[in-house]
Amino acid sequence: MTGIAVLGSTNMDLVAYVAHAPKRGETVTGREFRTIPGGKGANQAVAAARAGGYVAMMGAVGSDAFGDQLRATLIASGVDTDLLRTADGPSGTAHIVVDDEGGNAIVVIPGANGTVTSLAPGDEALIATADLLLLQLELPLTAVLDGAEAARRHGVRTVLTPAPARPLPPELLSAIDLLIPNEHEAATLTGVTDPHKAAVELLSHVPEVVITLGAAGSLYASRDTGPFTVPARPIDAVDTTGAGDTFVGTLAVALGEGRPVEEALRWASTAAALCVQRPGASTSMPYRSEIDTAS
Ligand code: ADP
Repeated sequence: MTGIAVLGSTNMDLVAYVAHAPKRGETVTGREFRTIPGGKGANQAVAAARAGGYVAMMGAVGSDAFGDQLRATLIASGVDTDLLRTADGPSGTAHIVVDDEGGNAIVVIPGANGTVTSLAPGDEALIATADLLLLQLELPLTAVLDGAEAARRHGVRTVLTPAPARPLPPELLSAIDLLIPNEHEAATLTGVTDPHKAAVELLSHVPEVVITLGAAGSLYASRDTGPFTVPARPIDAVDTTGAGDTFVGTLAVALGEGRPVEEALRWASTAAALCVQRPGASTSMPYRSEIDTAS
């Protein structure tokens, strides 16, 4: 079984569905409210566990009721949460207003995620036993860097999803083996909008890159292999939330199993397509048997 360590965020998404978003000073009556467990770290952990990895999550939930729910959601998908800390204070939350045209406005409050400024006792020992470490940018950068450097010390492959996009310090990039931005993040990181050119530029910093291209699939490039594209599955998209995290979590499992990269990318895009065909994020992520059946 592929061992996957995830150092990342947990958030409760608080989603209000309204006809139009309120302007300053205005009160509107909405149609529906949902609480949806999320956070890029937790979503990648759920995707990888459902795809058949042995997954352990590091980071922190808050000491509130959301914290209990976030932990329970991870456990329900088979994620080991022994090293997921409970920090004093609120869990991370994302306050999302979705209007009838599908537009949204979001306030993210890091909460417990913001307390994760470095590795906690036990984290490095866990990383050392993993095949891959999954990182994103929803925790303080100091912790992300600590995690990447610990993985480097133990020869563990590091995978970074650079979201939300921000300039990255060279010492972090130099500790990353595989970078997986979407096309917008790739453009932010490089200043280049063409994904092929952005991939080539990114290879001067990391040995392997996958740029996800939404319905256009994904682009792979490494220092040994020229760029090639894997098409997405042609499907009717219902809700693309969580597509990228499903892709990354599933890809990590396949790579950890030693599958050839093109096969791993196809498997990940099958999983992401299944996620996109159902509403929700972590709740819509497929299990291994579903991915295999659809492959
Ligand atoms: P993110 O969610 O991070 O923005 P993308 O939108 O690039 O990431 O999606 C990640 C992957 O999910 C894509 O590479 C593709 O395989 C799959 N995907 C996303 N949108 C669609 C779609 N409309 N149809 C089929 N597959 C999709």
